[in-house]
Order: sequence, then structure tokens, then C-alpha cells
Amino acid sequence: MIEISQRLEELEWIARPRLLALRRLGIETVEDLLTHFPRRHEDRHQFPEFPREESNVPICLCGEVVKTSLRRFGGWKKIFEATLQESKANALSQPLVCRWFNLHYVQKMIATGQRLVVFGRPRLRGTRICMDHPEFEVIEDDGEISIHFRRITPIYPATEGLSQRVLRSTIYRVLQGLDDEPFETLLPNELHTGDRATAIRTIHFPEDWESLGVAREHLVLSEFFAMQMLIASRRIESRVRIGVAHCGGGDLLEKFLRALPFELTDAQKRVIDEIRHDLAANHPMNRLLQGDVGSGKTVVAISAILLAIEAGFQAAFMAPTQILAEQHYAVLRRWLEPLGARLSIRTAARQEDNAPLPLFESAHENPGSARVSRAGDGVPRLRTSSATNQNDLPQIIIGTHALLYDTVSFSNLGLAVIDEQHKFGVAQRARLTSREPAPDVLVMTATPIPRTLTMTVYGDLDVSMIDEMPHNRGKIVTAVRDESKLAEVLGFLRIQLESGRQLYVVYPLIEESEKLDVKAASAEYEVWRERLHPFRCELLHGRIAAPEKQEIMDRFRAGETRILVSTTVIEVGVDVPNATVMLIENAERFGLAQLHQLRGRIGRGVHKSYCILLASDRSKETAMKLAVLEKTSNGFEVAEADWDLRGPGDLLGTAQSGLPALKIGNLKADAQLMRRARRAAMSIFAADPRLELSENQRFRRLVVQEQGRTFSNVS
Ligand code: ADP
Ligand code: MG
Repeated sequence: MIEISQRLEELEWIARPRLLALRRLGIETVEDLLTHFPRRHEDRHQFPEFPREESNVPICLCGEVVKTSLRRFGGWKKIFEATLQESKANALSQPLVCRWFNLHYVQKMIATGQRLVVFGRPRLRGTRICMDHPEFEVIEDDGEISIHFRRITPIYPATEGLSQRVLRSTIYRVLQGLDDEPFETLLPNELHTGDRATAIRTIHFPEDWESLGVAREHLVLSEFFAMQMLIASRRIESRVRIGVAHCGGGDLLEKFLRALPFELTDAQKRVIDEIRHDLAANHPMNRLLQGDVGSGKTVVAISAILLAIEAGFQAAFMAPTQILAEQHYAVLRRWLEPLGARLSIRTAARQEDNAPLPLFESAHENPGSARVSRAGDGVPRLRTSSATNQNDLPQIIIGTHALLYDTVSFSNLGLAVIDEQHKFGVAQRARLTSREPAPDVLVMTATPIPRTLTMTVYGDLDVSMIDEMPHNRGKIVTAVRDESKLAEVLGFLRIQLESGRQLYVVYPLIEESEKLDVKAASAEYEVWRERLHPFRCELLHGRIAAPEKQEIMDRFRAGETRILVSTTVIEVGVDVPNATVMLIENAERFGLAQLHQLRGRIGRGVHKSYCILLASDRSKETAMKLAVLEKTSNGFEVAEADWDLRGPGDLLGTAQSGLPALKIGNLKADAQLMRRARRAAMSIFAADPRLELSENQRFRRLVVQEQGRTFSNVS
């Protein structure tokens, strides 16, 4: 009898090299093996006749190799061809030519006389029907034929050093020897569709397509349910923690809003109310604020901050970059100092208080009066306690995520706002939320997240949405242009500069730490300076020292500099309303979400804005991708399209999400199942927050098990 917890080396019949290959795939136990799910299935009951036309859908065919050949082209490159004949060939049937380019291992595996199963798209090449790089499997006439053929056959994810048939036979044999009721079904009754043991057997070797569908649904639901239970448990953890209400009466907020040069949008008002409600509650707030670039999240953050400091607490405002922190600092000082608020900034490069007081003290200090001490680094620190020094302490601390580290601690932190959350990871967020006493946490993101992802990656947060733009906004026109049209584009840029506007030129440097890239950016900058002479131009990139960076930004904001040639350091948050034109070079190298984010730097004032995407490649993919931005300026639509084009990987940032990787479910295609799983998990926790009921004990185990998987995933 085989048991699921058994290690594979205990099954003596698995050869050692195979064990090693399996281990490389992360498969060590019987359970790992059986949850290595097929990525698709082939119906090998009966193969279709060879096609005589091309097709866009891949098909599965079976035939005999009647000829092989190896040809060279372009010097060292090789094409290997295998010509397949249908088994019941007749006068009308046409052979199929399978071709592989530069894959010499294929040539070693295929020989005349063999029978092959191939899977791919048939294409017409001249008069021949060809399949390029089909997946293939050699049929060997052994006793295992019934495992691999005359059935719906599983095809597994790529398995280096392990053929499909070896993997399939191994799984088959393990299933044969498996204990009868080995798998516990960890699903609530309302999600029930069969039991897990059957589902596992069926997903590998289904009787028919219908039962395969049922089995898959069961497994996807189990996976999603486990994930949602983990999320719900995280959520409930903060819910049941006793926090402190951090909400003042609102006079300060009132004053601030009255002094604003604009009226809040309805969406902003609604969101401020939601936050206010959370601040007033005595469990910790954990809220995600989503709003497209330029939708006005900063005033919402400020409103929350004012409520917190009015109640006597400190508030922290964290930005992902130095530039952005400096900008927030400037904006907040302008607006809040007249109201009497005390602000300070802390970044890796600079610590400055307008009341010159380091605000961080060791967590272990006794409360007491302020006194100067020397910390381990010999720097004098003035330690204060909130009880006695309320009047000197900064109320609002602005900074980069340096605020999270450095063993700093706030004496009296009531609210932490994290701007542009997508740049932070879950682990960083956890640093904040796990503090005692728990502060209220508001995370903000301008990268709209498709709904399904909000249910997962940010599933432990409450979500507020600013779904409306301020009304005074000029329109952004986005246009894709081929590089060859540069002269025309330059003419347009000059007209804009002459009429007083400012310009961003964005240059795609991905890895800014590279010396080489800095050189490239500098060269690029020289070119632009000449092109747009005599308008004043400056260069900004990540390697410029912080104080200088700040000066460059200040000159641009003041309008002294007219053109900013920049890397993506300007991507987030920078706000210069007179800069209405953005030219993005090699736009195809950026992702859609990032382009949208970049584009959000313009269209911030009353003037009409223009975003020009210069493309240096003419491929269909590039054209399709960039066209999305021409069509819509709605961040959510961009996010959905981005997701379609790229798949979830990038958006999810699995390492950042702090969730176990999915083995079978697809966040997009199975969104409906995710919703069901989420509802079920939430209702379990709603009725039994600590999972104390006896019928919920199995779910408690599930949560613990999922937590284990998460920690082993996140480094
Ligand atoms: P984001 O949501 O991208 O962080 P910001 O908070 O930087 O956007 O706001 C962009 C600009 O819009 C700022 O100059 C801000 O002062 C302004 N703004 C915010 N709310 C409104 C509003 N309701 N009406 C007009 N302008 C607004
Ligand atoms: Mg912002």
C-alpha cells in the first residue's frame, strides 16, 4: 500500500536518476507527485485524419515516420524534418512534415519506422502541410500501451530530463498502489462536487471529458478555497486584534478642505468617509485605496492623516522613491503648516525636521522626559516620550520605506499611509501591521488591479475605490508613432514648447544600477539637447545623488528647465501640471501598466496633454499592445488588457503576494470559482472567527498547512 505522505525514494521501483529529475521539479513525496497536475489532455481514442489545410487550433495526430532529414541553413543552423504518414493512408492523404529548428536532441529521438503522436498547429508551407516544433511522443510497443493510448491521455508541464511517458507511467503506477481513502476532502459542503481522491484519480486518467471537468473544478475549488481561508484568516487576525480608535473630531480636516483650491470629487468624499469610519473603529484599519493616476489620492491620504493627528497620534506617510517622498513633503508642508501641523522627513539620504528632533527612539526606552543620548553609532539622539513631549514631536513623518527598517520606532504611531503599494511587498506591509499597538494602515495604489487579483493578492484588505477623475482635467491624447516619424514628432514638440508647455522624454532603462545604462542615458540626453535647442534640458536618472536629483526636479517644477530626459524614476507620483507632453522612446520595451503609469505624469493641469509612444519595432504584438493605450485612458481597462496579454505572472508578483503558487487554478479563467471559494471562506470565518466549532477543526488544520506553504515560498 502506498500512502500519500510517503517519500518517493521509499518506492523502490523508481530509478534513482528519475528520483533526481523529479526532485528538480520539487516533487519529493507521493502527494507532490499526484498534485503535479496535467496541463492538458489529448484524446487518443481515435486520431483525426491528417489535415489538408492549415489551422489555428493545435491538433493531435498519429502517424508513422517514413523519412527524416537534416538540413543546414544560414551557416550553423539546422532544421530537422520528420515526414509522417497516416496509418490508414489512402491516395488522397497527404503526409505531414514536422520540423524542428536547432534542437539536436529531437533528431536523436526520432527515427524512420517509429510511430509518433504529435501536437501542434498545421501550416501550409508551399505545397506541404507542416508542423513547426510540435510536441511529440514516440509510441513504443510495450506492455504499457494502455496507459498512454486508447484513452484521454494526460500531458504534463515541461519536465526536464523526464519524458512524458515516464512521468505518466510513474503516476499511473502510484495511483494503482494507492491506499483507498488517502485524501481528505477539505471543502465545505456547499462547494462539494465529489471527493478529492476521485478528483485526483480522474484528473490524471479521466474516463471521459465530462468527469474530467468535474474533477478539475473540484481541485480548483479546493486550491482556491485553501487560499481564501489563508487570506480570510489574515484578515480576521487584524479584525480581532484590539486596536485604538485614531479619529479626531474633524475640525482640522474641515479647515484643510476649506482651504483647498478645489472641490473634492464625490468619489474622494465617499472614500474619506470610509476611512473615517475605520479610523474611528477600535480594530486596526487595513485598507487598500485604489485610484487611477491623477485621481487625487494624496488629498485623501492627507485627510486621513489630519483625522489621526487631531486625535493626538503620529502619522507616517511612505513613498517608494526619494523624489516622491520629497514631493509629498513639499506639498504637505505647504498645505499643513499653515494649520499648525509639525512635519518631518526621513529618507535614506536625509533626515530633517522642521522641529529639529529625531523622532525615533528605541522601543525599550522608559517613558520619561527628553534627554540626549548616544546610540550605538555615536550619533546623539534626543529621546522623547509622547507623554511629556507632545509639543515637540513631529506629528507627520514623511519618508521612503527607510521608515520601515533601521529598528526605528515611532513613539505614538496611529496611522501609516503607504503610497504606491505595488512597489512594496506583503512582508514590508506586515512590518507595519504587526506593530504593537497596531496602527491603522492605508495602502494606496495607482496600478489598478483586475478584480480577481483584488480578491487574492489584496484579499486581506478592505478596498476603497476612487473611480472618478477631478473635473478640471485636460484630456490626454495618446499616439503611437514609428521611429521613422521622428522628424514630424520633433516639429510637434517644438510647437508645444514654444507655447509654454514642458516635456518629459522617457528613456527605457530597466536596470538602472548598470554603469553602461547611465552612459547610454547621458548620450541620449546630449542628442535631445541638440534636437530641442535652445530649450533648456536636464537629465534625471536613478544614479544621480539624491540632493542633486531634488534640485533637478525643483528646476523642472519651477519651469526653469523645459525638458526632462529621464529614466522611469519619474514613473510614480511626480506632479508637474505644466508638463503636458511625454515622449516615450522604445515604448515596446515597457509593460502596459507601466506605460499607463508613466502617462499619468501628464494630463494633470488644464492644458490638453499628449503622450507619444515611439516604437522601434514593427511587430504585430507591439502594435496590439500599444494600441490599447491609444484606445483607452482608463487604468482598469489597461490593467485587464495587460493581464490578457501577459498572463498573471508579472502582475501578481508571486514573491510579493505572499501567497502559495497555484498548481491548477487559473486566476483569470477560473475567476467565477474564486468568487465562490471566497464567499465560502468568508462565511465560515464570519460564523466562527477563531475556528472553534468542531466541524471547523479540519479547516483550522488547512489554514496552518497553507501558512506553512507560504513561508516556504517567500524568502
Ligand atoms: P494620484 O492619485 O495620482 O496620487 P494626486 O493626489 O497627486 O494624484 O493628485 C493629482 C493632482 O490633482 C494634484 O495636483 C492634486 O492637487 C489635484 N487634485 C486632487 N483632487 C482634486 C480635485 N477634486 N479637483 C481638482 N484637482 C484635484
Ligand atoms: Mg500619488
